[in-house]
Amino acid sequence: MKREFNLVATAAAGLEAVVGKEIKQLGIPCQVENGKVRFNGDVKTIIETNIWLRAADRIKIVVGEFPAKTFEELFQGVFHLDWETIIPLGSAFPVTKAKCVKSKLHNEPSVQAITKKAIVKKLQHFFHRPESVPLQENGPEYKIEIAIVKDKATVMIDTTGSSLFKRGYRTDKGGAPIKENMAAAIIELSNWFPDKPLIDPTCGSGTFCIEAAMIGMNIAPGFNRSFSFEEWQWVDKKVVQSIRDEAEEKANYDIKLDISGFDIDGRMIEIAKKNALETGLSDVIEFKQMRLQDLKTDKINGVIISNPPYGERLLDDKAVDILYNDMGKTFSPLKTWSKFILTSDEQFEQKFGSLADKKRKLYNGTLKVDLYQYFGQRVKRTEIKR
Ligand code: SAH
Repeated sequence: MKREFNLVATAAAGLEAVVGKEIKQLGIPCQVENGKVRFNGDVKTIIETNIWLRAADRIKIVVGEFPAKTFEELFQGVFHLDWETIIPLGSAFPVTKAKCVKSKLHNEPSVQAITKKAIVKKLQHFFHRPESVPLQENGPEYKIEIAIVKDKATVMIDTTGSSLFKRGYRTDKGGAPIKENMAAAIIELSNWFPDKPLIDPTCGSGTFCIEAAMIGMNIAPGFNRSFSFEEWQWVDKKVVQSIRDEAEEKANYDIKLDISGFDIDGRMIEIAKKNALETGLSDVIEFKQMRLQDLKTDKINGVIISNPPYGERLLDDKAVDILYNDMGKTFSPLKTWSKFILTSDEQFEQKFGSLADKKRKLYNGTLKVDLYQYFGQRVKRTEIKR
């Protein structure tokens, strides 16, 4: 089977650079593009990136790329890729997605059907099977996707399975959870380090706190879930296990963290606690029912991360205005704390009462949101209580 692959890690718009940084931290050179990061690697790279990347959506093998303006070009292009080195005989290989953007070929169901036909023909040809007999497809599954953008086809195989944001710890999620990979990315974009206190005063199901604790303890985000590649014949289960074992060794459960999540809704606190328990972090994070308005602390140099309700989601506009105003008043004494607030409300700064030092456009699902960033005043090292 094939040794070296062209790979991509897909990422939500605005998070590509964060994913790129994570890939580099794994020691893998990469190239950041719109919606994805490209890199090369072997089976081990596929396993490691799936287990370790916090902000990515999926890891895909790029089987090939070629110009495709006609169905004939599409068929030939797909046929000539080396499918036999990836898909063993007997495997299932559904073409699950076809996407056409700004291209002559625009009928997605036809593109999907032709892609399938070309792969079937190639495998029949390579393995000397008669064309009259359909290939058996009852083995492990290789999900194929084709995208034709500006007349260029990219054919990929998904290695991940259900998206990487599904870490496997969510028992319940409440009304408006943030995706785990987006929460991790925001923590990576913040100036939080494991030696600083972190508070999420509107923690809901606890996603920011749990992701921060996992980052702080160097816990691999994929330790608790399975992936599509684990079913594949040419992925050695022993190698997967050794990478999982290595990840377990790299975790630092002894590090002292100061992470708290609060929410006005006691039911959300119960959910957050259950989710933390599922990840083995129940002793690490403090979850408590409390109103944001009651937040007070003597600690310094901390980070507040909050994804408060916004009009579209949970509260009516008037209540949102009052809440954001209260937020401004409650946070303002916390001079040395940095604050990162994620909301779709374009008037957030006026309601909060001060202009952000920096804004970053992101997407929470399909909803455009901004991360409003307020940096805390610098504290001289001698003033930091140890
Ligand atoms: N990031 C969270 C979702 C937050 S939704 C997650 O991943 O699950 C916003 C949360 O703010 C809700 O859980 C809501 O109960 C809480 N909330 C609303 N008003 C609040 C207030 N005044 N004080 C504290 N929490 C509040």
